[in-house]
Amino acid sequence: MSGRIAHLADVRGGYALEADAVVVGSGAGGAMAAANLARAGMDVVVVEAGPQVRPDDMTRDGPAFLSKYYWEGGLRMLLGSGAYPTMSGRCLGGSTVVNSAIFFRLPDWVRQAWIDEAGLSGLAGPELDAAYDRIFTRLKVAPTPMHVMGRKNLVTRDVLDRVGVPNKPLPRAVDGCIGSGDCLTGCRQGAKQSVDRSVLPEAVDHGARVMTCSQVERILFEDGRAVGVEGDVVDLDGWQKVGRFSVRAPRVFLAAGALHTPVLMQRSGVRLGGRVGGTFAAHISGLALGILPDDVRPWEGATQGWGGFSPEVQGLKFEALWGPTALIAAEWGGLGRDLSQMLQDVRRAAMVVMVYRAKTKGSVRATRSGMPDARLWIPPEEIHVVARQVHKLTAAFLDMGAEYVFTGVKGLPDRIRTIDEASGLLSNRLRGRHMTMTANHVFCSCPMDARADHGVVDPEGRVHGVPGLWISDASVFPSPSAVNPQATVMALSDLISRRAADLSLLDA
Ligand SMILES: Cc1cc2nc3c(=O)[nH]c(=O)nc-3n(C[C@H](O)[C@H](O)[C@H](O)COP(=O)(O)OP(=O)(O)OC[C@H]3O[C@@H](n4cnc5c(N)ncnc54)[C@H](O)[C@@H]3O)c2cc1C
Ligand code: SF4
Repeated sequence: MSGRIAHLADVRGGYALEADAVVVGSGAGGAMAAANLARAGMDVVVVEAGPQVRPDDMTRDGPAFLSKYYWEGGLRMLLGSGAYPTMSGRCLGGSTVVNSAIFFRLPDWVRQAWIDEAGLSGLAGPELDAAYDRIFTRLKVAPTPMHVMGRKNLVTRDVLDRVGVPNKPLPRAVDGCIGSGDCLTGCRQGAKQSVDRSVLPEAVDHGARVMTCSQVERILFEDGRAVGVEGDVVDLDGWQKVGRFSVRAPRVFLAAGALHTPVLMQRSGVRLGGRVGGTFAAHISGLALGILPDDVRPWEGATQGWGGFSPEVQGLKFEALWGPTALIAAEWGGLGRDLSQMLQDVRRAAMVVMVYRAKTKGSVRATRSGMPDARLWIPPEEIHVVARQVHKLTAAFLDMGAEYVFTGVKGLPDRIRTIDEASGLLSNRLRGRHMTMTANHVFCSCPMDARADHGVVDPEGRVHGVPGLWISDASVFPSPSAVNPQATVMALSDLISRRAADLSLLDA
């Protein structure tokens, strides 16, 4: 039996379906679960809030693209120690459509922490490695080739050499990347192996029905058991409700991402004593943007092609990055003369960012309108760790002849021209509110834990004490991954759904 992808025109009037399993969300975790459940012969329905994004819908106009295909138009913020943008895709394939496709396995030390601290002894065996092997092969993960680096990635190499960080081309899940640098607004080229292209087609081939523009509002229960979901059919932008839908199924898989999955649980009355959404976490970040003496043309070359791990701070990683210039400008700030100067300088710009597994505290709570209200608290000492690395990057850029460096740290000059002007980065008075950072790696809001009175799901992804309900997305990380999370989201979802479908954990 072959399935299909249903678009707004197909679902506009609403619908009521029955299936063996319903999967909420079609991103990294949801696609993987749908493919396995369908392959095992189950009748699967995937419900996805966003529409399908086709190559023709992809535009370099960042704000226009974000407003349609990112949640809250790309303007969602984490509040707490500061106000930090946090982005996630609202489209078929979820955030995998808009990310940079960097793929890393969980480092051994984090894997060991998950085993020790959350009792996940099952992660010690060969099953997790087999899952990574399958995923890396299927998504064609390979180091970014030199011919698509563009100068910006090579500037990152030179900066990291100066800082003393071992560095190399980043492994990415792409096939035929031409280095257009457009990853954050999709991939018109069709090179990025986002799950809408790489995994969902397999689910559809095995009969899965994929319902787009279908935003789940709550989980349905009967006698304490999850038996389906219901929600609204929404228009392409997600603003208007144009119908109602329900899907009844004895297996409900939540994969709406680390912000929306806990919200769905809370709105459905599953709180587990405050543990649902009570342990949210995100990687924190920092940046240095250098204006070099000659052209870099940062819009050329793979979006994030080069990087390296800090030998000094465990869990801190450096990466090249560029995005739509309008978005960089928004982060850079400035109006009038400042903005016009920035636009003149941008062709000479290169940016190095970092992601860091800081010890943060966070939470996600459902607002009345059903959106996540996420908070992140970052202790000052972790801010100081990031700021000191920003200082090193700034010194390296200046050493390479940069005219000035922008760090986004409040209280510092916007244009740092000498290393003395960067001394504020070494201050112990820096706090979260001073930092410019984006937190796109979000997780841990419904963590996996072997103990029934800890965490939210058991080692097989089943919600503690709620039969019929699984979670298979980034929510289940027991703690931050320290590396880009997509590969691990997919690997955990692969294991969770294979177990639920009685498929081998080791074979292809
Ligand atoms: C700009 C950006 C760059 C990134 N770069 C990288 C990278 O290079 N490498 C990497 O490893 N990671 C990267 N990440 C992170 C990575 O994309 C995520 O960790 C991963 O996609 C999370 O998978 P998920 O299944 O939990 O959520 P998602 O992939 O976000 O999927 C969740 C899906 O659920 C849908 N949904 C939400 N609520 C509902 C609802 N109520 N009803 C129906 N559907 C719903 C969403 O629309 C979405 O499609 C990046 C993220 C962003 C935003
Ligand atoms: S850099 Fe361009 S071609 Fe390469 S994966 Fe990203 S969007 Fe696609």
